[in-house]
Amino acid sequence: MSSNRKNWAGNYQYKAKNLYQPKTVEEIQQIVAKAKKVKAVGSQHCFNDIADSDETQISCENLNKIISIDEKTVTIESGLKYGQFCSELDEKGFAIHNLASLPHISVVGACVTATHGSGVKNKNLAEAVSEIEFVAGTGDLLALSREKDGEKFNGAVVNLGGLGIVTKITLDTEKSFQVRQDCFQNLALEELPDNFETIMSAGYSVSLFTDWQKPSINQIWVKSRLDREFNEFEDEYFDAKKCTENIHPIDGISAENCTEQLGIGGVWYERLPHFKMGFTPSVGAELQSEYFVARENAVEAIFALEKIREQIAPLLLVSEIRTIAADEMWLSMNYQRDSVAFHFTWKQDADAVMRLLPTIESTLERFNARPHWGKLFTMSKEKIHSLYPKMKDFIELLHEYDPQEKFVNKYLQQNILR
Ligand SMILES: Cc1cc2nc3c(=O)[nH]c(=O)nc-3n(C[C@H](O)[C@H](O)[C@H](O)COP(=O)(O)OP(=O)(O)OC[C@H]3O[C@@H](n4cnc5c(N)ncnc54)[C@H](O)[C@@H]3O)c2cc1C
Repeated sequence: MSSNRKNWAGNYQYKAKNLYQPKTVEEIQQIVAKAKKVKAVGSQHCFNDIADSDETQISCENLNKIISIDEKTVTIESGLKYGQFCSELDEKGFAIHNLASLPHISVVGACVTATHGSGVKNKNLAEAVSEIEFVAGTGDLLALSREKDGEKFNGAVVNLGGLGIVTKITLDTEKSFQVRQDCFQNLALEELPDNFETIMSAGYSVSLFTDWQKPSINQIWVKSRLDREFNEFEDEYFDAKKCTENIHPIDGISAENCTEQLGIGGVWYERLPHFKMGFTPSVGAELQSEYFVARENAVEAIFALEKIREQIAPLLLVSEIRTIAADEMWLSMNYQRDSVAFHFTWKQDADAVMRLLPTIESTLERFNARPHWGKLFTMSKEKIHSLYPKMKDFIELLHEYDPQEKFVNKYLQQNILR
């Protein structure tokens, strides 16, 4: 039983009356069979009510085993966070193609919301999923795979917790690799129109950070794979200066929580995220929003945001700009669109942030910006539906696996269901 349980950022208090932490799949089946309303909750890193339920939440954190690792895949139970199995995967000689800014999030929670890292050629984290096993609304244990279920699988992975309680997930792996991070400070925004593609392609994964205080990019983080051809940077990259000490994305905060930089090579899972496992990622007392537009509109969108930077800056801790390659997952923010993502880490002033989001959304509307499912947004359901051509098919899929709408919570009602 639970009370006063909040999400990671502490800005949302779960309303579900019951929290179960089952140790077996059979227990999950029984809970789902009995419940009228039920929802999985992962590592609680979403900033909205996506993981809440009117009645019952199930945490899979006691299902925390690595089931198998072979040459092509890793299969894990659904309670694991990336940071809990990546080192073992690496010891066996394997890696996952990309990671988000932090390793603290549950794999399933990340994949069902299309969580992403960066890289012009890198798809989001859900792209690595090749199989899921889940308890559907009937209490049945079902499995879907990329190989056998084709287009239906594309609808099922990014599911916002709507298809059931995932119990097991299989991810593609590749040979383990080393990564180095080189960081630069102060790039004039006027460098971007001619050089955005070059800069975002300067490494395997590139992030730009700005606080929108000035018309400039405060930091460029370039993560390069050492098993591929990579840039050896001079002391200046365009007009930005190479850092000679580790930095935090937010100026003035100690870099102790950040993964090693200064071009020092290290294993993929200790360089692809910005923040170290075991340390607070980002800031903690914060809110987040993120919007995705087609990469071809990146520069235009940056300058559209620049026009409203005086409204953004007072509420902002930092903004991050990343790229994500297009995919075929129906509800992915990157569905059939090579994307650029505009992320905002806000000060924890929820009322002011919620008042500002419509301005950001209308600024990015002409680019058909899609909001991150796990962060704060104010877009209407009608608008969201217009951004996802496969939305109707997704709703049919949801009803196929959850005919009684047990996994439909307020969030799905508000944003997805007709
Ligand atoms: C500091 C910080 C940094 C972040 N960085 C990034 C980033 O770099 N890139 C990015 O894209 N996002 C980022 N995010 C957002 C984050 O990745 C997503 O919100 C993600 O969904 C968090 O997963 P979770 O398990 O913690 O979420 P939760 O809020 O616990 O759950 C999210 C969703 O997953 C579902 N779910 C969880 N477990 C299961 C299960 N077993 N079966 C079925 N459904 C399940 C829930 O029902 C819910 O719908 C960041 C968030 C924070 C707080």
